[in-house]
Amino acid sequence: MEDCLFCKIIKGEIPCSKVYEDEEFLAFNDINPKAPIHILVIPKKHIESLAHLKEDDEKLMGKIYGVINKIAQEKGFKQDGYRLIVNCGKNGGQEVMHLHFHILAGKPLGEKII
Ligand code: AMP
Repeated sequence: MEDCLFCKIIKGEIPCSKVYEDEEFLAFNDINPKAPIHILVIPKKHIESLAHLKEDDEKLMGKIYGVINKIAQEKGFKQDGYRLIVNCGKNGGQEVMHLHFHILAGKPLGEKII
């Protein structure tokens, strides 16, 4: 997608602080971290949001949890735990319209909404 910020990061047109990459996913540090560890995990395929997932994407989405756990293991926060957040659409507060999973970790994260 031409105008998508995260597609530009995937293509290397905008720099990022890369944490993980494979054929299907890229993970990088959030530019405005809300916790000591704040990583965004994105599929390289442009999917606007969770609400835009197609049946074809089920396998890809199944894999993303494995990628997240791998990152947690490699970065050393698997043991202490982490929080996973996906904002979806306007009411979910999604600002970048390329599906992304926020991983927050590195301290007790405090108040939970749920
Ligand atoms: P959301 O509000 O769920 O759409 O989250 C978008 C996230 O992208 C925010 O946490 C931003 O801080 C983050 N973000 C925006 N631009 C960049 C960038 N160039 N590199 C890394 N993270 C970014």
